[in-house]
Amino acid sequence: MDPFPTIILKPGEADRVLAGHPWVYDSSIIRAVTPPTDGELVQVKDHRQRTLGVGFYNSASRIRVRVLAPDRLTIDQAFFEQRLKAALEVRRRALPNARSFRVVNAESDLLSGLIVDKYEDVLVLQTTSLGMDRRKDMIVAALRSVLSPQAILERNDVGARKFEGLPELRGTLWGEAPETVTIDLNGLRFSAPVGGGHKTGVYLDQQLNYAFVAERAKGARVLDCFSFLGGFALHAARAGAISVHGLDQSATAVAAALANAEANGLADRCTFETANVFDWLKTQTFTPPHERLIPKYDLIVLDPPSFTRNRASVPDALRGYKEIHVRALKLLRPGGTLATFCCSHHVDGRLFEDVVMAAAFDQRRLLRRVATYTQSPDHPILPTVPETEYLKGFVTRVLPA
Ligand code: SAH
Repeated sequence: MDPFPTIILKPGEADRVLAGHPWVYDSSIIRAVTPPTDGELVQVKDHRQRTLGVGFYNSASRIRVRVLAPDRLTIDQAFFEQRLKAALEVRRRALPNARSFRVVNAESDLLSGLIVDKYEDVLVLQTTSLGMDRRKDMIVAALRSVLSPQAILERNDVGARKFEGLPELRGTLWGEAPETVTIDLNGLRFSAPVGGGHKTGVYLDQQLNYAFVAERAKGARVLDCFSFLGGFALHAARAGAISVHGLDQSATAVAAALANAEANGLADRCTFETANVFDWLKTQTFTPPHERLIPKYDLIVLDPPSFTRNRASVPDALRGYKEIHVRALKLLRPGGTLATFCCSHHVDGRLFEDVVMAAAFDQRRLLRRVATYTQSPDHPILPTVPETEYLKGFVTRVLPA
């Protein structure tokens, strides 16, 4: 008998794995031939005993196996070094001048359960599977050898860890970690709160989109909704916007955005306000009877957080997306530009554009789509792993009436 821990899949469950999707759900498994150990390697076979792949096992997770390779292999520091180098090569080609980017994006880099972000010389790590979590020391050693960082932090304070039976943690894994790192994005300086803040500090996935959207900002009055650290706002200001107003409900984010504007010498054109975007837009679009609203903005950016956590909340999320689009369109001048993003995996590009168009229909505005954007290339997309694709953006222009 094969001594390597082995699980057998039900008939019909093999194709997805063969096509390159690394997740094996509990419901796909018929039985274990040699019982696997949680957090350790297991091989996955189809019901005819053909090997499909090898990956980390966790009986506590609905995703029982996260496949790492098609055949048996040893998971050691050299394995991680080799995968890291392959991931870095993708970034070097796609973002040759970037010094801050996502080094490892889990499934996109054939390392399900591992995220590594690079903020200049500081690395921030997230392990969202038991197998990866158990190998943090090995991963840290590989990161040190390949990237020679100044410090490595863990931002394991993410809810997804509970699905693997893991606690929420944050702390320093190696070196002297600062609370914030000043990073360069497209030649602008941002203070990245690596010790706290959203995701692992900054939304690196918008790195290229900041520059793309800014190409439309010259001479514009800009509204940046959900501005966080001022990514879109500052790029627009540098590109020659007349004025930029950013809105975020987090006072900390607003203070940070203001400081970033000052650090880049753009504070004369930028204002930031702590506000709930829904309420703010409602107030701004309220018109007393017999008065007409005068639209003020030439470019509005909508980059909200994901309004959905699961499929069940999609209808509510769509209502939210529609509301902000309806109101933003009221504030947009004829000929103005709307740059709108959706980072929910559960709302795909088609559905998202339907919502934008429904809002335009409500407002009797005709939109022309002038650009389509996706996540920056340090968050690579594997079409066979739909979960790797989540960010979509449309730039539309309101046709003059
Ligand atoms: N555009 C930003 C990312 C936005 S992330 C960037 O590129 O970095 C979402 C931001 O929206 C967070 O900063 C969060 O504080 C803020 N936010 C969430 N809900 C909000 C609401 N209802 N009103 C205003 N801001 C909100």
